Amino acid sequence: MYLLNEEQKLFISQIRRMVTEKVAPRADEIDRTGEFPWDLKDIFQEMGLLGLSVPEEYGGCYQGHLYTCLAVEEIAKACVSSSLIVQVQSLGWHPIMIGGSEEQKKKYLPNIASGKKLVAFALTEANAGSDASGVQTTARLEGNEYVLNGTKQWITNAGEAGIYTVIAITDKSKGARGASAFIVEKDTPGFSFGKKENKMGIRASSTRELIFESCRIPKENLIGKPGMGFIVAMKTLDSSRTGVGAQGVGVAQGAFDAAAAYAMERQQFGQPIISIQAVQHLLADMATQIEAARALVYSVAKFIDSKAKDVSKESAMAKLFATDVAMKVTVDAVQVMGGAGYMKEYPVEKMMRDAKILQIYEGTNQIQRNVIGQALIKETAKKR
Ligand SMILES: Cc1cc2nc3c(=O)[nH]c(=O)nc-3n(C[C@H](O)[C@H](O)[C@H](O)COP(=O)(O)OP(=O)(O)OC[C@H]3O[C@@H](n4cnc5c(N)ncnc54)[C@H](O)[C@@H]3O)c2cc1C
Repeated sequence: MYLLNEEQKLFISQIRRMVTEKVAPRADEIDRTGEFPWDLKDIFQEMGLLGLSVPEEYGGCYQGHLYTCLAVEEIAKACVSSSLIVQVQSLGWHPIMIGGSEEQKKKYLPNIASGKKLVAFALTEANAGSDASGVQTTARLEGNEYVLNGTKQWITNAGEAGIYTVIAITDKSKGARGASAFIVEKDTPGFSFGKKENKMGIRASSTRELIFESCRIPKENLIGKPGMGFIVAMKTLDSSRTGVGAQGVGVAQGAFDAAAAYAMERQQFGQPIISIQAVQHLLADMATQIEAARALVYSVAKFIDSKAKDVSKESAMAKLFATDVAMKVTVDAVQVMGGAGYMKEYPVEKMMRDAKILQIYEGTNQIQRNVIGQALIKETAKKR
């Protein structure tokens, strides 16, 4: 139906088998303990899932964004936290690929592509959420070093990652044009982490502060030129947001499968509840929304893989639509299962909690609508 080729179908079936055998049995436990699943990270690494769209010359296999989305979707069917390991690896290496020098790419990308090192992307701060221009972390040039001071908030993979791409202000007088992007390695003196956040969902994913206290990094760790930080960050998010859409498709499909299976078994009024038309209609709407979301995510991923210049509007649409579908479908899955859906014995309760973050991170869905709206204004003005 999605016109996937034989190689892509084989790729999906290999991941599906791994997810059934390794990820699904761990999902409930790591949600309870909040433990980062290093064992699953190692499996993803062995399967080459941590460098799927990194070009071959930098140690990746350059299968592209569609493959990343296919992998993320399959893993998210069982566990959104685990799918985030693949998703954030893709988010974190993009700043280096987009703005980095040849030297930086050769130095950092092979370790990221092979999965030897996890990576994190750090833009958000206490006063810089939707309004990224509120960044207050500073990077001051002193001789051959930049000195970083400030605190990043809610950074995925914080503490687990070995490499961090960080947005900091190099020239306060220039506002958003005074921000720059940097590479910071984990063990750099003056760089530490806050406590693990206690979250509603994706509980096995590490979310912490990054704290910079006179943290000195070589000036060669500046990505691109001073002042390019926001361009690098926005282009990174444009490329990465489709993967959040894929997480949405995955968790929605996982919840649908659990709810449909339950509805076949659960007897009320002398029949399986799936025979009741009201339940069928709920399932029909859920299935239709998932197919629409999947079609949009795959087509935008292919669009990005075609090396299209501006993918901002399309990737925002994929993220917005697929993650709103994920929220709606996971809530409806709980409804189809009634009281059982509310119980921790069944997976849809966790899926509903996990789905919520997808409407928030990598830009809230209100911000996606703003991105789409701005693009529409430009397109409409051009047509006049
Ligand atoms: C679990 C988790 C993991 C995260 N991982 C990372 C990470 O790895 N790296 C990173 O840099 N960040 C990360 N974030 C931060 C995330 O991207 C931000 O939370 C998000 O961008 C929203 O910012 P905020 O939470 O400050 O909300 P706010 O900006 O305070 O927004 C609050 C509300 O106001 C609305 N709003 C604000 N401005 C507008 C506007 N102009 N138009 C319409 N509505 C608006 C928002 O949509 C939202 O509903 C993570 C967050 C969480 C919770």
